[in-house]
Amino acid sequence: MFDNLSDRLALTFKKLKGHGKLSESNISEALREVRLALLEADVNYKVAKQFIAKIKDRAVGQEVMKSLTPAQQVIKIVRDELCELMGGEAEPLNLGGKAPHLFMMVGLQGSGKTTTSGKLALMLKRQGRNPYLVPADTQRPAAIEQLKKLGAQIQVPVFDSDPAQDPVDICIQSLAGASRAGCDVIILDTAGRLHVDLELMAQLERIHSRLHPQEVLLVADAMTGQDAVNVAQAFHEQLGLTGVVLTKVEGDARGGAALSIRAVSQVPIKLVGVGEKLDALEPFHPDRLAGRILGMGDVLTLVEKAGEAFEAEKAEAMAKKMATDGFTLEDFKEQLQQIKKMGSLEGLLSMLPGAGKLKGLKDMQPDEKELKRTEAIIDSMTPAERDNHQIINASRRKRIARGSGTSVSEVNRLLKNFTQARKMMKGMAKMGGKKKQLARLMGAMR
Ligand code: GDP
Repeated sequence: MFDNLSDRLALTFKKLKGHGKLSESNISEALREVRLALLEADVNYKVAKQFIAKIKDRAVGQEVMKSLTPAQQVIKIVRDELCELMGGEAEPLNLGGKAPHLFMMVGLQGSGKTTTSGKLALMLKRQGRNPYLVPADTQRPAAIEQLKKLGAQIQVPVFDSDPAQDPVDICIQSLAGASRAGCDVIILDTAGRLHVDLELMAQLERIHSRLHPQEVLLVADAMTGQDAVNVAQAFHEQLGLTGVVLTKVEGDARGGAALSIRAVSQVPIKLVGVGEKLDALEPFHPDRLAGRILGMGDVLTLVEKAGEAFEAEKAEAMAKKMATDGFTLEDFKEQLQQIKKMGSLEGLLSMLPGAGKLKGLKDMQPDEKELKRTEAIIDSMTPAERDNHQIINASRRKRIARGSGTSVSEVNRLLKNFTQARKMMKGMAKMGGKKKQLARLMGAMR
């Protein structure tokens, strides 16, 4: 997301950096380009206009900070305002008050509502909650079955809805089901339509007024750009939304919806969907995203994601090892497994500072087969060899190749990659995710 916007802003700021002192005219010139970049990113034109006016006010009004150059100062103001535009602080889900907590998911058909209900259940489960899924979308033929399947996949109980029943009755009856199952968060997956229509709104309002959900989350498709903004406004007027889940943001190169929804509808984006897999749901952090748009990377999200996929302790131990020479082939294998767990290498790497500028990240999917072969090679080593790769001489390499059903050249390649990765990780652990190092890591993982 935001590749184009990031590129354009980077160019604009580069031009600014050439000036020792900023005049009103070169600020205006830069801001004109920022505005064009925002419009090109499909940001609502009113939002873009207000945004620029605010920045100009602040930049020309000289909030002088001695530690920053004039260009850095403008970048900082743009960053602050981008963050503000998206709501400033991250807005967590409301899980306050007494259980059960009732979440109502609403949105148009195809926005990802059912999938997101499943993803949300998994996220809550990982946080130690006991979610309960309620398929109340009697509109789309396969929706009930779809949610039941998702529930089975993540081992979350699903209410056995009868498609012939009124959705309001389904929701009411599901409360007893959730209580029987000992669940504390109930997620209602309601019906959608292709467009906002009165009948749908009436149905949703009936559910809303009978059940008083504490979260009413609109699931909106980021790829629909300004339409998503209009949909959010319409749903908010009718139902009083408490938050938006913006889906498919990983596929939206422009990002206009993420930048405009809050400003136009006043509803905070609480979560973002970043892929089709069930763990591809993340809390929305305006400050981090603002940093990412400006190419500052998003180290915090990276750290958080890693922490989710494997226990924090392990991560910490690994980080320590990575910073020293203690990183062994055994650790390397574990690292590869973690990359598998975290999904694509692209998703992971794009969060590192500077990686936004790396082209061709999209082709950098970890190759499952390749990872398996690498694991097989490491498995064929003795513990002593795994502990100290330097003892692996020619005859040991032959034996390892035979044992793993690979070739000596493959073993050689792995050892070369390992030593490179080791060097690189040492550098990265010290927080210097530089382009060259990343490029090398990608080579090493291939
Ligand atoms: P519903 O009609 O709103 O219930 O939509 P579904 O949950 O069936 O989702 C429609 C399609 O969007 C499915 O193919 C999902 O896999 C896909 N989808 C949902 N969320 C995301 C996301 O964050 N990223 C991507 N790439 N696809 C998504």
